[in-house]
Amino acid sequence: MTRKVYIETVGCQMNVLDSELVIGSLRKEGYSLAETAFEAEVILFNTCSVRAHAEDKIYSALGRLREHMNEHPEKVLGILGCMAQKDQDKILKRAPHVDLVCGPGQLERVPELIEAAKASGRPQMALSLGRKEATRHDVEASFISYDPIRDASMRPTPFQAYLRIQIGCDKFCTYCVVPSTRGPEQSRSPEHILSEANQLVDQGCREITLLGQTVNSYRFDHGDGRKTCLSDLLIRLSGINGLDRIRFVTNYPLDMTNDLIDAVRDLPKMVKYFHVPAQSGCDEVLLRMKRQYTISQYDEMRQRIRDRAPEASVSSDFIVGFSGETEESFQKSVDIVNRSAFKNSYIFKYSPREGTRAFDKYVDDVPEEVKKRRNNDLLVAQNQQSLFLHRHWIGKEVEVLVEGLSLTTQREVKRLGFLPHADSPVQMTGRTMHDLIVVFDGMPRLAGSMAKVHITDTTAFTLFGQIATVENQTTLNEKQMAQARHAAARFNPSPTPKEGNISLPMA
Ligand code: SF4
Repeated sequence: MTRKVYIETVGCQMNVLDSELVIGSLRKEGYSLAETAFEAEVILFNTCSVRAHAEDKIYSALGRLREHMNEHPEKVLGILGCMAQKDQDKILKRAPHVDLVCGPGQLERVPELIEAAKASGRPQMALSLGRKEATRHDVEASFISYDPIRDASMRPTPFQAYLRIQIGCDKFCTYCVVPSTRGPEQSRSPEHILSEANQLVDQGCREITLLGQTVNSYRFDHGDGRKTCLSDLLIRLSGINGLDRIRFVTNYPLDMTNDLIDAVRDLPKMVKYFHVPAQSGCDEVLLRMKRQYTISQYDEMRQRIRDRAPEASVSSDFIVGFSGETEESFQKSVDIVNRSAFKNSYIFKYSPREGTRAFDKYVDDVPEEVKKRRNNDLLVAQNQQSLFLHRHWIGKEVEVLVEGLSLTTQREVKRLGFLPHADSPVQMTGRTMHDLIVVFDGMPRLAGSMAKVHITDTTAFTLFGQIATVENQTTLNEKQMAQARHAAARFNPSPTPKEGNISLPMA
């Protein structure tokens, strides 16, 4: 059997990046990607623990694979990521046909673990230390970072990439598993980040999204009295020739400094966009969530962005139905949406997670149907705001980085079962410098180009327009072009709040 690996990824952008790195290391061992689990020698699930639904999906998938794995004992089935770190040997109890359990801080070891599982026929486990199991130094050291192994073929597009600048989180919001599954907050050195950014640009990347759980708390201590914060890093990254756009997610409201807002405003390569989750509009709920800020502090931060960078768009996250959320406190979330001019909000129903403070301390006392209704009501309020903000762009010309086939075209591709030719007239999609999604008539060849699009219409989620001009018509070679078309057809890099199936790093 040729060495083939199948990987399925759920969760946030951190997981998308982790999967790219795992595949990068397995390619070095001679593996290639399989399209389905059944044709692979190694089957991997990179998992998420933020919501119960994501975990349930993985356990169901494991159930479906049980018979196949029993018939093929030579194959290796692995669970990677946050669920592995959180559930540990519970996974093996529930699914004894699993061969490998590996936390997000140990992914570097995946190739070695696969070989050990094959050789011994016994399950392999690689986990980082729990927050209370050792000194902070030792716990930090157990979350290994191996970012430089990059595999362009795993990315949604070859001209866009994620770059991790920070791992872990020290905020300990009561509903969140991240501080235990991804460990203590650690910032990477600017030199490593710059070298990886240069490597990505050499691979044809034009846009980089910097990732951190609370990315704006990035601070690297050089050990000689010098410190680098996120705005310093953005200035240095802006100096890289060939890199056109820089974005960062996700921000923590209290760490939104003026120098960072000014850097986004003043540096031409910065995407004018801040994603700053509020999570609730009610002080009592925020206190129970241990978010450590009040709504007046959030409003003050929002106003500072308006004052210093009036052009920038802002988006948010909300959890509805958190323990103790009354109708009155929920109404305050609607109020903050109505006054904050968020471009969009990602809205989630609260689901208690084992291993969090809220799970141990609070009762999940908001009924499911109430959570559903609040979710819908908040979405309606947000959609009205989004539509109002989007209408402002009608009649204007915007510059977009063309990402690939639009969702409609992707559905057609799936239905018809073949990819359009590079010059076929099809509907394409891209993003503006304000992180707005634009759909327009174009052709697959434009993927990776900058285009000027005249906006003619809008919905709450998407601007529609006609191409005015195309600059730098594709810098991609034929192989990258084929990859871009293929990637665009199997992955939508522009999730809209309506879809709600892709979560962001929590902040
Ligand atoms: S919600 Fe964000 S800030 Fe809070 S603990 Fe989780 S990752 Fe950290």
